[in-house]
Amino acid sequence: ASTPLAPTAPAGEAVPRRSGEKIIEAVGVQKHFGSFHALRGVNLTVRAGEVVVVIGPSGSGKSTFIRTLNALDPHDGGSITVDGIPLNGRQNLDAIRREVGMVFQSFNLFPHLTVLENITLAPTRVRRTSRADADQRGLELLRRVGIEEQAHKYPAQLSGGQQQRVAIARALAMDPKIMLFDEPTSALDPEMIKEVLDVMKELARSGMTMLVVTHEMGFAREVADRILFFDGGNIVEDTTPEHFYQNPQHERAKAFLSKIL
Ligand code: ADP
Ligand code: MG
Repeated sequence: ASTPLAPTAPAGEAVPRRSGEKIIEAVGVQKHFGSFHALRGVNLTVRAGEVVVVIGPSGSGKSTFIRTLNALDPHDGGSITVDGIPLNGRQNLDAIRREVGMVFQSFNLFPHLTVLENITLAPTRVRRTSRADADQRGLELLRRVGIEEQAHKYPAQLSGGQQQRVAIARALAMDPKIMLFDEPTSALDPEMIKEVLDVMKELARSGMTMLVVTHEMGFAREVADRILFFDGGNIVEDTTPEHFYQNPQHERAKAFLSKIL
């Protein structure tokens, strides 16, 4: 399907883009793994509705940083505030996880649950949504990502691209305000990359605030408001896609682009 998202999003999903309020504020974020200093004072402000693409060499801290934003990895210096909720210690974990959906390179679906059960698990367990309401919403989300007909299959019966679309629907089922993607198409065969990127593009156009670690240039050029270039545990370039691809400032960014273009 070329337009996997319904053109008229249900009420509450079509948020105006870049409405301006600060939804993520990271100030001086530090992270150590033992003696290894993985994040070295990362500063970032993201406004509601922004689509931010994160690139940079392997090992530069991209995954570590976005994992700190929903406290999958606790940071150990500086501060992070997500939609007004300070991320400190463990006390705000549930609130944060409700605000922030995450999609990984490996789809991480539960193999023993059907597609629809994967999607309704968190809403019924965590949100105490009724089975009927959760199923209805789950089917709506599957229609949105273009695979409603797969609802009663198991993950192993689906292609990689379909599984990743289920993972996106599952994250959306908790009505997050922010979606984080960590190399969502890196594990996919080339012919499946587009169907996942198309879903992500429509999500971006619907007004979702998104941080996406990806090296997919077409996606970045088409929908990103900003590009962050990570190197050595920090953001060394924060600019528009036009500027970044045409005239990267940082030597490491130039070298990186010359390798992937
Ligand atoms: P990227 O996503 O940019 O490739 P990562 O954020 O995954 O980089 O990793 C940044 C650095 O932190 C790497 O050198 C990596 O080896 C290290 N690192 C990441 N996670 C851990 C961990 N759980 N334990 C030890 N080192 C880690
Ligand atoms: Mg990574």
